[in-house]
Parts: sequence; structure tokens; C-alpha cells
Amino acid sequence: MKFSIATIPGDGIGPDVVREACLALDAVGRRFGHEFAYTPVLMGGCAIDATGLPLPPETVKVCKAADAVLLGAVGGPKWDNLPGNLRPEAGLLGIRAALGAWANLRPALMFPELAAACPLRPDIVEGGLDILIIRELTGGIYFGEKGRSPDGQSAWDTEKYSRPEIERLLGVGFESAMKRGKKLCVVDKANVMESSRFWREVAEGMKGRWPEVALSYMYVDNAAMQLVRNPRQFDVIATSNIFGDILSDEASMVTGSIGMLASASIGDGSLGPGLYEPIHGSAPDIAGTDKANPLATILSIALLLRHSLGLETEAKAVEAAVRSVLASGLRTGDIASAAGSPSKAREKSVGTREMGAAVVAAIEAKTGPAKDRT
Ligand code: NAD
Repeated sequence: MKFSIATIPGDGIGPDVVREACLALDAVGRRFGHEFAYTPVLMGGCAIDATGLPLPPETVKVCKAADAVLLGAVGGPKWDNLPGNLRPEAGLLGIRAALGAWANLRPALMFPELAAACPLRPDIVEGGLDILIIRELTGGIYFGEKGRSPDGQSAWDTEKYSRPEIERLLGVGFESAMKRGKKLCVVDKANVMESSRFWREVAEGMKGRWPEVALSYMYVDNAAMQLVRNPRQFDVIATSNIFGDILSDEASMVTGSIGMLASASIGDGSLGPGLYEPIHGSAPDIAGTDKANPLATILSIALLLRHSLGLETEAKAVEAAVRSVLASGLRTGDIASAAGSPSKAREKSVGTREMGAAVVAAIEAKTGPAKDRT
């Protein structure tokens, strides 16, 4: 089949990791007989430099017309002092809103091969970790009314959620839990925030439709603590935009490296296709040095194949290829074991391009689900 993919390489390490992900997608195409046509578009700092805007209208147009959008990362110190609406991050919020991508799925998966990179005690993560964080993406305090008083002595941001916004997000939470461990934890701050109490009220009204799912609630401060104390208690976490932003970064560190985690931003498809991106930023400190780990972006294409193109076997093949390169000992700097650790001797230090090429080779070598081997 033929698919059109809009790519937003962005800034810093974004172009490096998107390049490797597209090469991996091409390998999927060769193996499974698909064709992927890429249209690169500008967003973030590079778009500001070229057009004066973080999200040019042409970018929105191309993304809306594509079957899926693949994003690297945007931002960097060069653009840090611009006013909020002209900063690279405004492009990020804008494209999510334009595509109606209101649910952000962030799997926090610890590959057993990377157990040595996990900062938690081995007994806490024994048996691996597999948490799905579902973050509301187009509402809440990041989009609520904000401002400053005329005297410049105070400022405010507003957390506001409507019933339909909460219902659609929790609907994804319940459905995802059904496909996994059947546990959904709604994370909030219901002891002090009225909007959080409303989230709980809406969840209570919905839970009867998914009787098999065990619904629980947890305050966000406790959730932040539990993620390092006993992360294996979680299956699916559903939460607001700001709490999800913070908790998913914490969960990423628990799993080993921010360079390993993918994300999918999806809606109901009425405004545009899904948007797929690594959860890390543009890492200006290592941009252009061939040090970026491309695996988070490569794992994002697995989510793209699964959620936007309905190609589950292909998605699994990408995930299996990533596991096989990790099992073979290849490591970028961010996932390397500490010097002197027992696993260090079995590792080979590689850069962005070599890691990407190894995944391509593994996809073409048909490493993957047994039923798919020929
Ligand atoms: P960051 O994620 O870019 O980097 C944090 C640390 O992790 C750095 O030391 C970096 O070198 C390392 N790192 C990140 N990704 C890596 C990878 N793939 N491989 C190896 N190491 C990796 O976060 P930051 O430093 O807070 O932000 C840098 C810029 O990125 C800022 O301008 C910020 O606004 C932007 N940002 C963009 C996004 C996005 O585009 N979605 C998300 C977060 C931050």
C-alpha cells in the first residue's frame, strides 16, 4: 500500500532522528511491500528563521492532508528569548490543536536488555516495566485563559476542562486498559482542585461501561512518588495535560533513558491524522554530533504504523528489530551501562547513524514475530 507521511524534522537532533526513522520506515516498506512518500515541512526554530512563524500555514496544510505526521523535536537556546506566541513550543501546541490530537499516548516500557540503565533498585523493576500514560493534550492550563495584571505585578494561567474533553480522554483510557492489564488510574489533585473533582465525577459516570476495568484515583504528588517507589503497580494512567507532561518525563527516567520513549498524539481523525514523536526535546547539547539515540523516534514509527495505518504486524516488526539491536549490545551514550558494570563488556558504543543502520538491517533480516518469519 501507499502512504503519505508529513515529516517535521525541527531543530537540534530532530533532523538526525527523523532521518533514521524514515530509513527504518523504508525498510518496513521493502519488507512488507508498502510505499511511504515523505513531505518534509518546517516547524519550530527553523520555521521562525525561514518564515518568522513557528508554525507556517503551509505546514498545517501538508500535515492535515497526510496519512500520518512524524515529528522530531523543536526548540533551542537561539529562540528562547522570543515572546511566548513566537517561540518554537507555540508550533508544537499549535500543530497538536490543528490536528485535533487531544490524547497523547506515552508507553513507558523498560526493555529487559536495558535493565542496567534503570536508576531504580533491581528488585523494584524486576520483571520489567510496562506503563501507558495517557495525557490530555489540547486543554487544561496550557490552553486556558492566561494573562498579566496591568501593573505587571501578577500573572495567571487557568485550568479548565469540559465534560466532553474529559470523557473522550478517559474513553481512550478505559479502552486501552481493556487491551492491557485492565487497570486504569486517574491521576489528579482532587484534594485541592475543583477541576480534578470534576474529572473524578465524569470517571464515576463512565466506569459502568467498562465493568472489567479496575478504576482507581491517585493524587499527582503521590503518583510522582509511587512511580519510583513501586512503578509496577501501574497499568494505564490517564491524566490532565500538565500532570501528564510531568509524570511521563519521570516515567521515562524510570525506564532507563529519555532517548527510548515514543509517543502518539491522536484524536478522532476529523481534523487531521495522528502525530508521532519521541518524548525528548531537541537536545541542543548533542546536536550535530552523531550522539543522539534514534530509537525513541524509530519506536514512534511503530506507533504510527499501529495507530494511524492499522499495520500491527509491521509495528511489531519494528519493535522486534529494536529489541534485537539492543540484545546484540549496541548502545548510544545515553543507554550505555556505567563504566565498570558487568554488562559493559558486552556493549558496543555506537552513534546515531550506526544504531539506525542496525535497526534497518534487523527489519530486513526479518527479526520479528515467529508467524511473520519466512
Ligand atoms: P531534551 O530532551 O532536549 O534534553 C535533555 C537531556 O537529554 C539532554 O542532556 C540531552 O542531550 C538528552 N537527550 C535528549 N534526547 C536524547 C536522545 N535522543 N539521545 C541522547 N540523549 C538525549 O530537553 P531540554 O534540554 O529540556 O530541552 C532542549 C530543547 O528542546 C528546549 O528548547 C526545549 O524547549 C525543547 N523541547 C522540545 C520538545 C519537543 O519538541 N517535543 C520537548 C521537550 C523539550
